[in-house]
Amino acid sequence: MRRKSVAVSVGNVIIGGDAPVRVQSMTNTLTADVNSTVKQIIELANAGSELVRFTVKDEDDAKAVPIIKKCLEEKNCSVPIVGDFHYNGHLLLSKYPECAKALDKYRINPGNVGFGNAHDDNFKQMVDIAIKYGKPVRIGVNAGSLDQSVLKKLMDENKDQKSEELLVEAMVISSLESAKKAESYGLNKNKIVLSAKVSKVPEMISAYQKLAKRSDYALHLGLTEAGLGTKGVVASSAALSVLLQQGIGDTIRVSITPKPGSSRTEEVFVSQQILQVNNIRKFMPMVTSCPGCGRTTSTLFQKIAEEITDYLQQKTPEWKAKGYESVSNMVIAVMGCIVNGPGESKEVNIGLSLPGNGEYLVSPVFIDGKLATKLKGENRIKEFKALIDKYVEDNYS
Ligand code: SF4
Repeated sequence: MRRKSVAVSVGNVIIGGDAPVRVQSMTNTLTADVNSTVKQIIELANAGSELVRFTVKDEDDAKAVPIIKKCLEEKNCSVPIVGDFHYNGHLLLSKYPECAKALDKYRINPGNVGFGNAHDDNFKQMVDIAIKYGKPVRIGVNAGSLDQSVLKKLMDENKDQKSEELLVEAMVISSLESAKKAESYGLNKNKIVLSAKVSKVPEMISAYQKLAKRSDYALHLGLTEAGLGTKGVVASSAALSVLLQQGIGDTIRVSITPKPGSSRTEEVFVSQQILQVNNIRKFMPMVTSCPGCGRTTSTLFQKIAEEITDYLQQKTPEWKAKGYESVSNMVIAVMGCIVNGPGESKEVNIGLSLPGNGEYLVSPVFIDGKLATKLKGENRIKEFKALIDKYVEDNYS
């Protein structure tokens, strides 16, 4: 059961309510470098990011925002853009109204809007601008920049409690109190998304469970600073999957550190895979493949599994452009031998089992649970792809 949340419109995309759990991402270009930023936003949007955020850190960035928006419109890219503000957001949004108008949402970090009386004044100034231009905001609390006055107060009042628990509680309180303040200034609940990000999985899960229990604001899930490579993917998957399985979360972002030279779109694919393996949304056909073992004869099995995965990734946009939307439901099996190969192949749409050591050099192919053909020789991959193409035309066109 999905947790009920208040729907928030961000540009042409709805977050929360009955809307699907949204995938979003963030650029890593210098925002003021308009060409690079526009190029990356389009890449992320084409990869499936339904919202794209970028930092607006200074006057050059703020001046660039309306130009970025115009360039995106000229290139028919309508992905909503979100401005990420820290320390000086109130000044930039006030001084550059064209920036404030061009953005589809503002991210406000209540830990980074000033201290004491200035904190509330700066926060109110940003909320007032959001109200003026009809924009939603994400009140995004982060453990690394938590409002220290909230944490200090909690620590003074609860000296015996563990610091991890207090940190989580302080993040939740900071989010909810900021949201209530924004509402008291006149911002409607359907303009507020909340997030409470931390880099440790158990604390992140606990923070969002508390937020989900105590409010019905739309929730943006993310494990902040998830890390590089496999660690980042595993940590994000672990944290997000637990919450998504509990029906918590209206939009997700995977904050993995990209390897030098790798594409920023990786975080979009990881988000999509997390939603797909949790059976929450479907984005592309899936490949089931066994790990291989001493029964597999060579690297041919890995090569075929990789080639078929790449083929599906490459063909899916083409199929979808033709209107074959439900092709995302298709599952293909590539198995290393006949121990589990035929059984697994019968469970999916099309399954191929390669011959293992000591087996006949043929690859049985099952289509919709029935043995359809046996492939052999050099052309096996090509013929298997042709069978996939035919299956798509016959079943999803
Ligand atoms: S299906 Fe065959 S090759 Fe694959 S892991 Fe199982 S026994 Fe090994």
